[in-house]
Formats: sequence, C-alpha cells, structure tokens
Amino acid sequence: LNNIAVLTSGGDAPGMNAAVRAVVRTGIYHQLNVFGVMYGYRGILKNEIFPMESKSVANIIQRGGTILKTARCKEFYEYEGRKKAYENLKKHNIDGLIVIGGDGSFNGAQKFSQEFDIPCIGLPGTIDKDIAGTDNTIGFDTAVNTAIEAIDKIRDTADAHDRLFVIEVMGRDAGYIALHSGIATGAEHIMMPERKTELHDIIEELQANERRKKLVNLIVVAEGDDTGGANEVARRIKESCPQLDTRVCILGHIQRGGSPTCTDRILASRMGYAAVDALLEGIHNVMIGIVNDKIHYTPLDKAVKAKQEIDPEWFKIVKILAS
Ligand code: ADP
Repeated sequence: LNNIAVLTSGGDAPGMNAAVRAVVRTGIYHQLNVFGVMYGYRGILKNEIFPMESKSVANIIQRGGTILKTARCKEFYEYEGRKKAYENLKKHNIDGLIVIGGDGSFNGAQKFSQEFDIPCIGLPGTIDKDIAGTDNTIGFDTAVNTAIEAIDKIRDTADAHDRLFVIEVMGRDAGYIALHSGIATGAEHIMMPERKTELHDIIEELQANERRKKLVNLIVVAEGDDTGGANEVARRIKESCPQLDTRVCILGHIQRGGSPTCTDRILASRMGYAAVDALLEGIHNVMIGIVNDKIHYTPLDKAVKAKQEIDPEWFKIVKILAS
C-alpha cells in the first residue's frame, strides 16, 4: 500500500471533517501518500484528486460540513462511469480508497471494488444512524443535539402561550433523531417510521390533557412517519381539537450543520484511524463500525440501511415521563 485516497459522498454529516483529518494524518504517519478527492465520486470522474499534507487538515476537527465537499454522481451508477473512475485513480497510482458516506455511497464502493482492483473502506457518515454493522454513525449525535437545542427553545414559547407544537425532525427512513430528541426534551409523543402511531389515540389524550389543564404539549415527528409529517399531523389535530392553539415547526437543514459534538469527533477520529489500519492489514471492502465499543468490520454489501427494532420499553418511558 502506497497511495490512498479519501472522499466524502452523498448526504453530508457533521464530523466528516474529523474523519478526513484522521485518515490523512494516520496515512501520513504510516508514510503513505494521501490524496483528497473533491465532490465524492464526481471528483474522481473529473479528476479532482490532489495530494494532501498534514497541514491540509489543520483546524478542521471542529468544523461542520466537509472540506472535501460532497455530491451525488449519476455516472457512477453505470459501469462506464466506474471504469473511468478507475482509470483516473490509476493515474495517481491509488491503491486504496476510503469513502465517508451513507449506504448509497457504500453500494457504489461495493460495485467498484468488485469490478476493479482498488480496495475500498467505508466510514458511516449519516445523521440518521440507520446503517447495519455499527451502533452509531458520524453526525447523529450532533444532529440530535442541534434538535434538542431547538426544541428546548420551542418549549419556552409553547409554555408562554399554552400552545401545542408539532415539531418535525429529519429521518426519512429512521426515527432515531425523533426518538432521542423527543425523550431528551420531554415530548409527550414521538412519531416515527418504525412504529405505527394511531393519531386518534393522541387526539383523545390531548383532549384529556386539556380537561386536566395540561396545556403545553410537544409532539416530535420524524419526517418519514407514516402519518405524513408534522403539517399533516397538525392539520388533523386542528380538525378534531379546534380549541387548541396548534403550531408546526419543521427543523430542517439546521440538523445537518454545526460544529460536531465531542462524541462525533471521537467517533470520526477512531473510525478514520481504523480505516487506514484496515487497509494496511489487508482487510478490504468493509465498512468500519463500532459495536459494543469495539471496531467492527462489515462487508460493504452488508452495510445497508437497517431499520432496527425499537424496544417498546422506550415508548413506555415516554408515556410515563410525560404524564
Ligand atoms: P448516501 O451515501 O448518503 O446514501 P446516495 O444514495 O446519494 O447517498 O449515494 C451517493 C452516491 O453513491 C451516488 O450519487 C452514486 O454516485 C453512488 N451510488 C449510490 N448507489 C449506487 C449504486 N447502486 N451503484 C453505484 N453507485 C452508487
């Protein structure tokens, strides 16, 4: 192993910079040449590949976003595109590729590594925490902390006006941001794709709460919930409870940005280090995960989006603590 390349791909997540930094500095420590690729797979196709030094990653561990930028790349779905990518990587004699991204990016890396002789390592960078083979993903902790900071503020204004707020957080396929931010902010209800919520049960409860003068209510909804998101939930509540002052807040893209938390910086540093280590050990075409606090390798074809079972106990906790 002599020359490795690193890129960030797909959806961005806070902590990607810390991972890039760890890859570059671990690579240099082992006397490898480390190349950065701009804009994910698109940058390989456009030959936006440049040598990185230790100082290229100075002062970025605390920064959100990704200095390597990220993009989606249609051509990479096709064999011809991947062949061109291979040829460009070969021009720089790259013999190892580290991809920081989500399951889509791993899919691409898996195909690429099957077709060509460049080993790939994936690092899970996604705020949704829904990748098989790891207990946590780079960006989740920061996203959830951003969400709770915002929801705490909403609670203040909800309290001042005795309002009901329906707050939508990110998570098209997974409700972890909703579950964690909802519990951490004392929300009365959490709605997420992993679990069907009967809206009429919530409405009945809201009516009962009103009778006992519990007027501040927070409902946290994951964007991918079956009911159709916060606007739809609020619309149906207003229909049945016109007397309640019901408002909607969609947190949106603030959840993707910001300085990564300590947890995400440590996770990214550890995973970036482990990615280079794996390549040096000849462990190829795996995603680096952390399971029970130990580095865990998952073959790239198994590093897919995973809808995990949510322990029903969590919902009992939500109910008891918000009553
Ligand atoms: P994420 O990595 O966040 O899940 P995407 O699903 O958009 O994001 O994937 C990022 C990029 O990975 C795509 O734009 C494409 O270039 C590549 N990719 C995704 N899926 C495949 C696939 N099945 N085959 C080849 N390349 C893929």
